[in-house]
Amino acid sequence: MHEWALADAVVNSSLKLANDKGLSKVNEIFIRIGEVNNIDIDAFNFALSEIMKGTILENSKIIFNEIQANLKCNNCGFIFNYKNEFDKLSEDEKESIHFIPETVHIYIRCPNCGSVDFDFIEGRGIFLEDIK
Ligand SMILES: [Zn+2]
Repeated sequence: MHEWALADAVVNSSLKLANDKGLSKVNEIFIRIGEVNNIDIDAFNFALSEIMKGTILENSKIIFNEIQANLKCNNCGFIFNYKNEFDKLSEDEKESIHFIPETVHIYIRCPNCGSVDFDFIEGRGIFLEDIK
């Protein structure tokens, strides 16, 4: 259940940010979520609401902001959109990546030079963006 660990990290970061901003009550929490994630949003929301209980974050509204996933080729420097390439794969290949994200380097290649040596430059994972 890594949703609980993520929720815990978001709550801790939010409390720290609230402290830095001198806030005594938080009503909205803005979270950036990468297009590429294996997060169960319902489980994540539930974990958040449980962990926020009894803190100044209690009953905050959670606003998700989805970020496009982009990759950068380490060979030629070309930047390309993950979803575009992912959508071209077969159902079996998509499933492999879903279960073992590292296999992305087997199935996806740089559209410019064909290299499998690329990294995510954005759009992966989950980050606290802001609180109000
Ligand atoms: Zn390339």
